Amino acid sequence: MDSRLTELIKKSKRVVFFGGAGVSTESGIPDFRSENGLYQIQSKYGHSPEEMLSHTFFMNHTETFYDYYKSNMLYLEVQPNKAHYALAKLEEQGKLKAIVTQNIDGLHQLAGSKKVFELHGSVLRNFCTRCHTLYCRDYIIKPQICNNEEHADSKIPRCIKCGGVIKPDVVLYEEPLDEEVLEGAVDVISNADLLIVGGTSLVVYPAASLINYFKGGNMVLINKAETPYDYRADLVIHDAIGEVLG
Ligand code: ZN
Repeated sequence: MDSRLTELIKKSKRVVFFGGAGVSTESGIPDFRSENGLYQIQSKYGHSPEEMLSHTFFMNHTETFYDYYKSNMLYLEVQPNKAHYALAKLEEQGKLKAIVTQNIDGLHQLAGSKKVFELHGSVLRNFCTRCHTLYCRDYIIKPQICNNEEHADSKIPRCIKCGGVIKPDVVLYEEPLDEEVLEGAVDVISNADLLIVGGTSLVVYPAASLINYFKGGNMVLINKAETPYDYRADLVIHDAIGEVLG
C-alpha cells in the first residue's frame, strides 16, 4: 500500500470508503457506461443501457428489460478482489466505520464487510411489486415457475404467491434513492476523519454531492483517471484501486 495512505489510515479513527464502478471492474464486472459495452448493447437492443435501466422502460418493456438485465447486469461467477478484502479487514480492525458504494453487486458483503450503504441497491435482492415478498437473485435467473395460466409463457419473473411482477431492488434511472440509505451515508461521511474515495470519476449523481458532506481531516482520491475533485483531495493516487489497497 502507498506509504502516504498507510500513514493517513494509521492516524485516523473513523475511516469511510466511498466507492464506484472502478472497485468492481477489477473483479471482472464491466462498467456498463464503458464505450465498448454501450456500442454492443445499443446495436443489439436499439436502446442505450441508460434507457433500458430506467423506471419507464421497466414499466413499459418489462420483458426486454429482463432480457438485458439477466444477461448484462448479473455476474454469477465474480469474486471480491483485493480492494474488497482490504476494506473488510480495515473494518475488522475497527478502523473503517462504513462503506458507501454505488455498486449493486454485493461484493463488499461477500468479502466480509458488515456496514455497507448501497446507494443504488443490490441485484441480490428482489421483491414482488404487488405483495412485496422478497426473492433472491437465483429466482430471477432460473426458468420461471408459475402456476398462473395467464403468465405461463412469461419471460418476466413473477411472484409465486400472487403472480405480481418481481422487480430487482436496484435504483433505476428516474427513481429516487432510498432515503434511509442516503441519510445513513450522509451521517457516516459527515462523521469521518478520513474519507477514501475510490474507483469513481465523481461525475454521476449523487457521488459528487455526497462527498461535500465530508468535514474531516483528510480526503484521499484513488482513481485511474483524473476527477473534477482531485484539487480538493489531500492525496491523489491515479492507479487501480485493487493494487493501491491490496
Ligand atoms: Zn407477490
